[in-house]
Amino acid sequence: MTFDEIPLYVAIDRVRRTIASPGAELVSDEQRRQICQLIRAELPFDRHFDADQMLAAWTTFRKSPNGKVGLTVEVGKLHGWKCFMHGRGKGDCSPDVQLDRIVPGSRGGEYNVENCMIMCGKHNNIRKDSSLEAYLLAPFEESA
Ligand SMILES: [Zn+2]
Repeated sequence: MTFDEIPLYVAIDRVRRTIASPGAELVSDEQRRQICQLIRAELPFDRHFDADQMLAAWTTFRKSPNGKVGLTVEVGKLHGWKCFMHGRGKGDCSPDVQLDRIVPGSRGGEYNVENCMIMCGKHNNIRKDSSLEAYLLAPFEESA
């Protein structure tokens, strides 16, 4: 998922809540056409994704509704869709959206809404398993 694709995943999250079996595989062209129509109706008017993009994201979400994709959407809806490090003196963000555990996994932090925030891949990768406080206080060095 990229930051550009967020409206698409939010739209899919809405559609998934309105249909009877969001986990079912789309087997016919008619089903695929209907899903694209429902997604399109939930997108902001100025955001356009083609059918391939919509169906790829739909499939990604369908395979991971209670996994990282579903959790990323929940966390984004709750805490906002910007990288947590955006504007905090750590340089530009990368385009990829990742879930970052506030308490890192190496310290027992779990993947759940309470312990996760949105971070770009670059900042998540630089932070690694340091505490959030240590990362925020560390001097900024632009990575090569
Ligand atoms: Zn970032």
